Amino acid sequence: MKRILITGGAGFLGSHLCDRFIKEGYHVIAMDNLITGDLKNIEHLFKLEHFEFYHHDVSKFIHVPGELDYILHFASPASPIDYLKIPIQTLKVGSLGIHNCLGLARVKNARVLIASTSEVYGDPTVHPQPEEYWGNVNPVGPRGVYDEAKRFQEAMTMAYHTYHGLETRIVRIFNTYGPRMRLNDGRVLPAFIGQALRGEDLTMFGDGSQTRAFCFVDDLVEGIYRLLLSDYPHPVNIGNPDEITIKEFGEEIIKLTGTSQKLISLPLPTDDPKQRKPDITKAKSILGWEPKVSRAEGLKITYEYFKSLSPDDLHRMAH
Ligand code: NAD
Ligand code: UDP
Repeated sequence: MKRILITGGAGFLGSHLCDRFIKEGYHVIAMDNLITGDLKNIEHLFKLEHFEFYHHDVSKFIHVPGELDYILHFASPASPIDYLKIPIQTLKVGSLGIHNCLGLARVKNARVLIASTSEVYGDPTVHPQPEEYWGNVNPVGPRGVYDEAKRFQEAMTMAYHTYHGLETRIVRIFNTYGPRMRLNDGRVLPAFIGQALRGEDLTMFGDGSQTRAFCFVDDLVEGIYRLLLSDYPHPVNIGNPDEITIKEFGEEIIKLTGTSQKLISLPLPTDDPKQRKPDITKAKSILGWEPKVSRAEGLKITYEYFKSLSPDDLHRMAH
């Protein structure tokens, strides 16, 4: 039986990855310090023989007994609200955290896949963004703590590959959504749906002309699964290229939820990227992957999830 360590395993993406690897017959070890994650995301796995949870900060030395075949490094605050609140921890998990994972991988002779991000492209001047684009990041702006941590993480991972011959994979994840996002994580989808559910106006930042392209979580997980098992060590974009302005997105959420509230405009955060859309040519040709779930389908599933939360959970995740 293959054994896999998933850091950030109690988070949104990490918990979906735990589910997928359990389904594929792996022994899954989730590691998380719960700084932005939630045990509720994985509590359904606790009763399984082949699932373990370690409450641990991966920026500190990692000890895992037994063999390991794979390590997925997903631990990191991921939403602007989170990484602006805990900037130093964000920098540490992207630097010390990945160093610990890579060191552990050498000892165990394991393959490492890291969660990088479209934020390595910053506020991109090339559109859509192919992997060859080096990006446009402001290292000392507020988002620099996240973007530069992820860029360092890529460099460190590539160095272990080049100089130590370690098997490594790098996925550049574009905006992903789905069940188990935190309603109060500040990202646009939970923000808008949460506001609609509470009967508040939807807070659009700026004039809403900035664009994003949203990928449903199941599609992302499939792409990551294929990348891990591939032999490709260079970065691969995984995302859904169906681009939309934030204003149009807000209008879609208003329609989906049937809310009588409206979009209101608040100031645009500093360095908010004006446009973003993945070029997925590589994922298509190397992994035979492309997204299957349309935004309409994915939004419906996600809205049903938020509606099904208990009043206690809704209250806990309100602000
Ligand atoms: P999330 O906040 O739900 O999950 C992150 C998890 O990491 C949380 O459970 C958190 O408690 C844990 N964590 C953070 N620091 C830790 C530490 N030092 N030690 C142990 N655990 C720690 O966020 P997510 O959306 O699931 O993102 C997961 C990963 O994917 C992140 O690395 C993020 O940068 C990356 N990513 C996500 C997206 C997206 O759209 N969701 C896009 C690009 C990249
Ligand atoms: N955004 C918004 N209202 C919100 C939250 C976000 O208009 O309540 C905007 C934000 O300014 C950005 C886009 O939505 O232009 C996506 O933001 P998110 O934080 O989800 O992701 P990221 O900026 O990291 O792509």
